Amino acid sequence: MPKVRIAVLGAGYAGVHAAKTLNKLFKSSSDVELTIYDKNPFHTLMTELHEVAGGRCEPDAVRISLAKIFSGKRVQFVVDRINDIKFTERQLVSEKAVYEWDYLVMAVGSEPEFFGTAGVAEHAFTLWSYDDALRLREHVEAQFLKASREIDVARRQTQLTFAVAGAGFTGIEMMGELLEWKPELCREYGVDPQEVKIINVEAMGDILPHLSPPQRAKAMRQVQKLGGEIRLNAAISEVSPEGFTVNDGTFTACETLIWTCGVRGCSFAGSLTLPEGNSAVLPEAELASIRKKSRLATNEYLQSVNDERVYVIGDITWHRENGKLLPQVVETSLQTAETAAHNIAAAVAGQPLKVFRSNYHGFLVSVGSKYVVADVMGLKLSGRTGMVLKHLVNLHYLWGVAGFNSCWDYLQHHIFGLKTNRSLIGSHASVKSPMYWLVPLRMFLGATWIFESVNKILQGWLDPHKDMVGWMFAPATKAGATTALHAVKKVLPGDGFDLHQPVLAHPLGLFTWVIHTFASWVPHYWMQIGIVGAEMALGLALLGGLFTMLAADASFLLSLVFIAAGLLSWDQLWLLIAAVAVKGGAGKSLGLDYWVMPWLQRQWNKTRLAKKTYLYLDEPVQKGR
Ligand SMILES: Cc1cc2nc3c(=O)[nH]c(=O)nc-3n(C[C@H](O)[C@H](O)[C@H](O)COP(=O)(O)OP(=O)(O)OC[C@H]3O[C@@H](n4cnc5c(N)ncnc54)[C@H](O)[C@@H]3O)c2cc1C
Repeated sequence: MPKVRIAVLGAGYAGVHAAKTLNKLFKSSSDVELTIYDKNPFHTLMTELHEVAGGRCEPDAVRISLAKIFSGKRVQFVVDRINDIKFTERQLVSEKAVYEWDYLVMAVGSEPEFFGTAGVAEHAFTLWSYDDALRLREHVEAQFLKASREIDVARRQTQLTFAVAGAGFTGIEMMGELLEWKPELCREYGVDPQEVKIINVEAMGDILPHLSPPQRAKAMRQVQKLGGEIRLNAAISEVSPEGFTVNDGTFTACETLIWTCGVRGCSFAGSLTLPEGNSAVLPEAELASIRKKSRLATNEYLQSVNDERVYVIGDITWHRENGKLLPQVVETSLQTAETAAHNIAAAVAGQPLKVFRSNYHGFLVSVGSKYVVADVMGLKLSGRTGMVLKHLVNLHYLWGVAGFNSCWDYLQHHIFGLKTNRSLIGSHASVKSPMYWLVPLRMFLGATWIFESVNKILQGWLDPHKDMVGWMFAPATKAGATTALHAVKKVLPGDGFDLHQPVLAHPLGLFTWVIHTFASWVPHYWMQIGIVGAEMALGLALLGGLFTMLAADASFLLSLVFIAAGLLSWDQLWLLIAAVAVKGGAGKSLGLDYWVMPWLQRQWNKTRLAKKTYLYLDEPVQKGR
């Protein structure tokens, strides 16, 4: 029997979630072929684009490779731009190939809506793709550079005026980033902050219509506190290279206008020749609006009204639930994806389809890196608490996309790896020093363990006739007495604190119990060899920088064991601290890890376990077509 070919077109929030859900639903069925198509080899985190455009995060922060997401899954990914869909033949057509499908999930997303405003398409910036974010980021920096060389005051003013059109979540989030970036850029390019203007221009009488009025007011205050200006009831009527004009005729000179005013379906969807199917169920006027907005209408099962083997999800979907159109937000994408995947599985199995039901939780809008206003499940938060919630929501999403791997990347990009102070905890975690400064410490730690090991050999630990560890097995009370062995000096009044005395005067009860319970059968001579060998191996590994992370962990543990045994003195506590310090890759500089780790990483990434658990390091082995 031929395989059922399910194609998902678009690897955005909706497409990725649909493909992953289909993968789960068809886990044990070998007669289904799952393929996801996208023009980019990565999934773009659209909700974070402003952070790249506004210079907070590196571009990597908003893309996750499809190789990563679908590694270890049955889903094939194809990087190609689809130019046409032939519904009767059931084909996706690109410049280089034709792909067949039996079921199609349309998840091609949306584009900015210009409402026919003169000059916007030609002269405004948009923020609706990875490329848009990069273009904007480069442009803003270039404006500061240009202004730093400009001697004409009026021209400099125009270069340093940045306008954001629209006060929805994209517009306000973009404002927050620009306002936070401004002091950094002024410092870097020697520009007077007084000359930089960041303005939001909104046609309506308020900002952030998705939020409750008190939350809107908080967001507005935060924008103003950061030095931004919000102009309400100002609909832009024309944009030119010199600036923009609003409905009352006011002209503002500026070279940067970022358009975030509205959303329409992806123009690709608008260009398709759709079969008539059941579209007659919709009124003529509504069909005209749908075509005008380049969106695709569905029934309650999210099947396209034009072809019931096509399911439509995410921003492109035109569906009324209780008379209200689905909003173009991430929650719609994820929930429509879930229903569509379920319904395809049901259709393949000949079972009844389920009706789409939305379940929205609310919105979180950031104004810079430390302030978020949130209206979530009746909870109204603002400030840093809101930002913590936003990070948690993002981490929850990323856990579903590529598990621990993408969560770790997110934390690096947003908190631990930032070069600036634009994170929830400022720049505390991002101050870095070069690894080579840790090399002497790593080698000294290694040499200390070797010294300890050699010392023990000289004391006769490798002599089978000498029992050097017998004291550990003495009854607990006697074990305590062994502290005499460690030359504990009695601290007399006025004598000061003796750093040579052990941290614990007596071996810890737990230590004695573990030794008595688990190690009493081990011949003492073997134990002596084990301890001497472990210290020597640890020392050599640290000295040569081989498996440094593991060696540092072992060094830490061994030091803890020695503390518990009452053997480690106060002045030897540095062993613990040094183990923590060298753990973070100190072997990659002037150490064998420099060569060994990349090789090991490649071998590990090839394993099934790494792929299945998303515990691969960096990028997995490519598998897409
Ligand atoms: C700056 C910004 C901030 C936002 N903030 C929020 C927020 O805080 N909360 C919220 O809920 N929503 C937010 N949104 C909206 C949210 O991003 C969208 O609702 C969501 O991205 C829609 O997901 P999607 O999968 O339908 O489309 P997309 O994520 O746009 O994915 C569409 C995919 O289809 C691919 N594609 C399109 N055409 C083709 C083709 N012809 N061939 C091959 N591939 C194609 C694209 O490359 C893309 O990967 C924000 C949007 C932006 C831009």
